[in-house]
Amino acid sequence: MSEQKIPLAGVIGHPIAHSKSPSVHGYWLRKYGLKGFYVPIDIDPEKIAEMLPRLADLGFVGANVTIPYKETVMEIADLITDRATLIGAANTLIFRKDGRIHADNTDGYGFIENIRQTIPDWMPKSGPAVVLGAGGAARAVIASLLDVGVPHIMLTNRTRIRAEKLREDFGPKVHVIDWVQAGNALDDADLVVNSTSLGMAGKPDLRIPLDGLRPGTIVNDLVYTPLRTRLLATAEERGCRVVDGLGMLLHQAVPGFERWFGKRPVVDDHVRAAVLR
Ligand code: NAP
Repeated sequence: MSEQKIPLAGVIGHPIAHSKSPSVHGYWLRKYGLKGFYVPIDIDPEKIAEMLPRLADLGFVGANVTIPYKETVMEIADLITDRATLIGAANTLIFRKDGRIHADNTDGYGFIENIRQTIPDWMPKSGPAVVLGAGGAARAVIASLLDVGVPHIMLTNRTRIRAEKLREDFGPKVHVIDWVQAGNALDDADLVVNSTSLGMAGKPDLRIPLDGLRPGTIVNDLVYTPLRTRLLATAEERGCRVVDGLGMLLHQAVPGFERWFGKRPVVDDHVRAAVLR
């Protein structure tokens, strides 16, 4: 009788030591008493194409992918989900038994589930959203907001041409506004999302004027170090409903964990605490 293999998964990046994903998956593996390991995997850029297919031979059933490989893995994967194609990047890989690599993107799913869990009465169709930033995270945010029926999105980015490219890709529900005008769009918004890296520890603060924020507007910062950014602190003072970025990180991990280890994990205060420890 052949011995059942212990499933291995991990997060691929370069560098990777900072990643919180091993704490998230490690916590769930212990909580549910599952056999399996989840490890950080640092791969040199010149070796990624060669190493990725080899992980399956070593017993890996899948992996998360982070900077700088979210786009690169799309060129190596054999099957790509529609949502990963739309976003143009993958963050979750499944190494199938037939040897093929399946690439998915769960960032948009994590983003939406985080808001839904924090603000259960959120009605996406009820009004426009403002999205700050036009990088990889913004693509996932915009794709998923349109998917849940947000009527239109005001998009602003320091480098305007990147925002224009997103409008081209996602269509007329996306309206580009100039970065210097960003503050003016806030009072129309039901939801404001910071998908720039501004406000992150070690980066400059997000300095757009916030006095347009109305009480009741949902404000979500994707940045989660620190957990309470200046944007969220100011929004809270103005009576907004705030959603931090850690929940997105946790929720985006759910589909991969379920697929690799066979149990759908719950995102709750305990896993948040385990990651913040
Ligand atoms: P990215 O592709 O590098 O995009 C960075 C974005 O920040 C761009 O829009 C960039 O504008 C803007 N930016 C950077 N420095 C700026 C500055 N000094 N002034 C104005 N804008 C500036 O990064 P990403 O992958 O989209 O990630 C963005 C943020 O989201 C990061 O903080 C990341 O940690 C966070 N994130 C969180 C989660 C989560 O699970 N919570 C998931 C994904 C990402 P330009 O185009 O003008 O350069």
